[in-house]
Amino acid sequence: MARYDFSAQRLYVDAPLAGGAVLALERDHSNYLLNVLRLRPGALVIVFNGRDGEWRANLAEAGKKQAGLRIGERLRPQDSACDLQLLFAPLKHARLDYMVQKAVEMGASVLQPVITRRTQAARVNLERMRANVIEAAEQCGVLSIPSVAQEAKLDSLLAHWPAERRLIFCDEDEAVSDPVAALRRGSIKPGDPLALLIGPEGGFDPAERKAIAAIQGAVSISLGPRILRADTAAVAALAAVQIAAGDWQG
Ligand code: SAH
Repeated sequence: MARYDFSAQRLYVDAPLAGGAVLALERDHSNYLLNVLRLRPGALVIVFNGRDGEWRANLAEAGKKQAGLRIGERLRPQDSACDLQLLFAPLKHARLDYMVQKAVEMGASVLQPVITRRTQAARVNLERMRANVIEAAEQCGVLSIPSVAQEAKLDSLLAHWPAERRLIFCDEDEAVSDPVAALRRGSIKPGDPLALLIGPEGGFDPAERKAIAAIQGAVSISLGPRILRADTAAVAALAAVQIAAGDWQG
């Protein structure tokens, strides 16, 4: 059963949220509520900021250009997201947009672009990624906003890998077998800090494969007998991780 109200507009704001507070909204939000949605003063809006849970709010006294929100009661307390990083090589626009949106829906907590030796597009539009994160969180009732990390070289991330973080490597060369069982066999447990690595479209270079295999406790998983594109692989792998050790277990 849905635990949140899909009928009201849901809005991410940066400001602290507390009952009785009145927020002055910035121009883009004001324009959206007043001129695009044509909401009237008093209209119900649901707000969250990724820290203070989710709140009912009403559109307050509004001029032509500026809207305010009067914060009412809290609807849901803040939840704590799984510690689940998604490491991926940058993709072209539309597929990167898709992957970012789906990763938010699937419960990733950090989106980390990695530059591999065969990565083509070295520039990543972090602003665009962040806008996609917020839009997906607004639409899907997500309370914890995943962070978007600055792109980093895969080689240097692996060279400084924190001992406690379990690396899960999606490897299309792995013999096909149940990925959930493989994660459990690798003793990936709920609550473990996790990082899921999806490779670049052009594949890994042998030195990278060696560095991945050298990470203590890394678990390789197969995602079936077909080669998936990186965005599809991310969604499929996130599902396997959520089943084996994440919040799909209840
Ligand atoms: N190496 C291939 C395709 C890479 S697909 C090539 O030469 O073009 C992009 C990424 O998706 C892979 O690096 C891997 O992380 C993941 N992936 C795709 N299909 C997979 C599968 N069947 N099992 C595990 N991972 C897969």
